[in-house]
Amino acid sequence: MSADLATTSPLAATDPDIWNVIQQEQGRQTNGLELIASENYTSAAILQAAGTVLTNKYAEGYPGRRYYGGCEYVDVAESLARDRACQLFGAEHANVQPHAGSQANMAVYMSVLKPGDTFLAMNLAHGGHLTHGMHLNFSGQLYNAVHYGVREDDHRIDFDQVAKLAREHKPALIVAGASAYPREIEHPRFAEIAEEVGAKLMVDMAHYSGLVAAGIHDNPVKVADFVTSTTHKTLRGPRSGMVLCREQYAKDVDKTVFPGLQGGPLMHVVAAKAVCFHEALQPQFKTYAEQIVANARVLAETLIAGGIRLASGGTDNHLMLCDVTAIDLTGKIAENALDRAGITVNKNMIPYDARKPLDPSGIRIGTAALTTRGMKEDAMRKVGAWILDVLKAPEDEAVAQRVRGEIAEFARDYPVPGID
Ligand SMILES: *Cc1c(COP(=O)(O)O)cnc(C)c1O
Repeated sequence: MSADLATTSPLAATDPDIWNVIQQEQGRQTNGLELIASENYTSAAILQAAGTVLTNKYAEGYPGRRYYGGCEYVDVAESLARDRACQLFGAEHANVQPHAGSQANMAVYMSVLKPGDTFLAMNLAHGGHLTHGMHLNFSGQLYNAVHYGVREDDHRIDFDQVAKLAREHKPALIVAGASAYPREIEHPRFAEIAEEVGAKLMVDMAHYSGLVAAGIHDNPVKVADFVTSTTHKTLRGPRSGMVLCREQYAKDVDKTVFPGLQGGPLMHVVAAKAVCFHEALQPQFKTYAEQIVANARVLAETLIAGGIRLASGGTDNHLMLCDVTAIDLTGKIAENALDRAGITVNKNMIPYDARKPLDPSGIRIGTAALTTRGMKEDAMRKVGAWILDVLKAPEDEAVAQRVRGEIAEFARDYPVPGID
């Protein structure tokens, strides 16, 4: 570290170890291709809001009803965040305090369910989330989770099965939404089934809330009692969560988040969420979200042309599930090979996978992050070609090195927000 830096960077001076980690991570995020479907790059404005003295403030309670003094300014931040979230999604009420998507889901479950109650959600192995009743997660431990999945022939949500399980188990809550489902989710069909069996409906739009905000995917707020989301995936905000609900559930949800589940909200992150919603309300965000989907389509076509099989045969959103056993690989081998070449993805189960979670048949790829860097369809064709080069020679160190170099060079033209 230079003497210069030690005087200009308090972090470099105080803790060079952590400063180094951040420098290295900045390099990784800049030089490689980030294709993890749940990740994105926040704007410099959001990074700035998240890195402020608002982290110092305790603000248990809600705007105007706090358990601490000195909340007059953070109250404004939280009110802006709530109002903008409601405006963005047409919601009656927003709670912007959950620290993450998991806490948002927990807040709804605890508002609606008692321990031992039954809820119906998507099978993890078919694209659901841990919080949708996985046996080691709180949701699987506290409640009786029943799971629907996708059809074996076309990998679309099996609504006959959803209806059948709903009639049979009479769940108090039905959960729609997924982490690894490449198609648009038909929320009204879930709403019909929920109504028929007297269940409440929660839509967990964590992955695709950016596409909903942009009006590209169906807005679940119209038909669901509760909508939860992360704010850091396609919505491109800080790492966090939120709950949207009808006014009739507002008090319950608020009480469940605080004091039920959390103490003080992270006010720096609440402020950063307000900035995120503001950005998502701008016309450019719609252009961004349309480009995410256009990019995913082109990347999917490129990979299919290269012999990779995609679950459901393609994508309607920001992600695709690639069955790499079609080219005689496994998800683990593919993830490692791509990693060595500077391409970051995650291994993932595909529907009806014959393999195990630690070495499944697939990888999951998403375009939200690269689209933020300004990449368009042409770039996606190149990205697809690099992926195929690496996957066709997964052990070949020379190929990995060549691709890594080409990507670092190429990526220079696509700046990462907040990194010089
Ligand atoms: C990512 C995700 C979550 C949880 O997010 P965390 O912020 O990691 O807790 C919840 N539900 C779905 C469907 C997700 O994809």
